[in-house]
Amino acid sequence: MTTTPGDGLLATSGTPPAATTWPSYVKASVAWHLAAGAAAAIVPASWPWALGAVAANHLALTAGGLWPRSRWLGSNWTRLPAAAVMRDEIAITIDDGPDPALTPAILDLLDQHRARATFFCIAERARAAPALCRAIIARGHSVQNHSDRHSHRFSLLGPRAMAREIAAAQASLADITGVAPRFFRAPAGLRNPFLAPVLQRLDLQLVSWTRRGFDTVGADPAPVLARLLRRLGAGDILLLHDGHGARDLSGRALVLAVLPALLERVQAAGLVPVTLPAAGAGAAAEARGQA
Ligand SMILES: [Zn+2]
Repeated sequence: MTTTPGDGLLATSGTPPAATTWPSYVKASVAWHLAAGAAAAIVPASWPWALGAVAANHLALTAGGLWPRSRWLGSNWTRLPAAAVMRDEIAITIDDGPDPALTPAILDLLDQHRARATFFCIAERARAAPALCRAIIARGHSVQNHSDRHSHRFSLLGPRAMAREIAAAQASLADITGVAPRFFRAPAGLRNPFLAPVLQRLDLQLVSWTRRGFDTVGADPAPVLARLLRRLGAGDILLLHDGHGARDLSGRALVLAVLPALLERVQAAGLVPVTLPAAGAGAAAEARGQA
């Protein structure tokens, strides 16, 4: 029986929380700590070595959290599941909104290309623009969980604070849109070992990306587009921003400068931009079949 941090904070009434399965890397780390502690207890003179072993392990865990596409700290989608790849699907994900000035223009561009996208919304911003959130859903797209306040200290939070941050966003977004998010993306993609058990209890899948445009820095849309199009293929998860985004020299948001060309290239390549829940629908059925 493993212990779970954050106690029963997120348990929903009527349904007992599922037993937490810690990522194997975390289990190995716990074993490593115990072994180091035992060594220091049995051979007291070895304590500097034991301390060094524990410090090295912490360094490795931190590295896993600071590398957004790593799977060291638990399940993490960096590409769409195989079933979606077979259907030539890709996912365009748009983070840090909704933004009353930008999101409507993005929705228009997506409509023009009959493309569906996933908006990883900051719940605080969603509460400030609930009608816009509902418009995203009404126009066939998806709203997913990108934390409550997008704290830059997210990856430094302890288990309870991390659980509160994600659960509060989950409740707000479900309340506003009428659809509970099924996917979570960490602010800036940074996390720590406490995240995986929290996501498991909230039934959320962590998603990072295949490639990001880096549209929050610089003033030139060309390299942003080039990064997103590099080795474009089925199963890609692409990342752009409708919040915190940079602008070109004329003041136009980079995402608006990049999206038309990106959507044309996606269409020309025969790829189908779908929402993450649509891409995952086949995968969920597959997983149930295997269970
Ligand atoms: Zn973000």
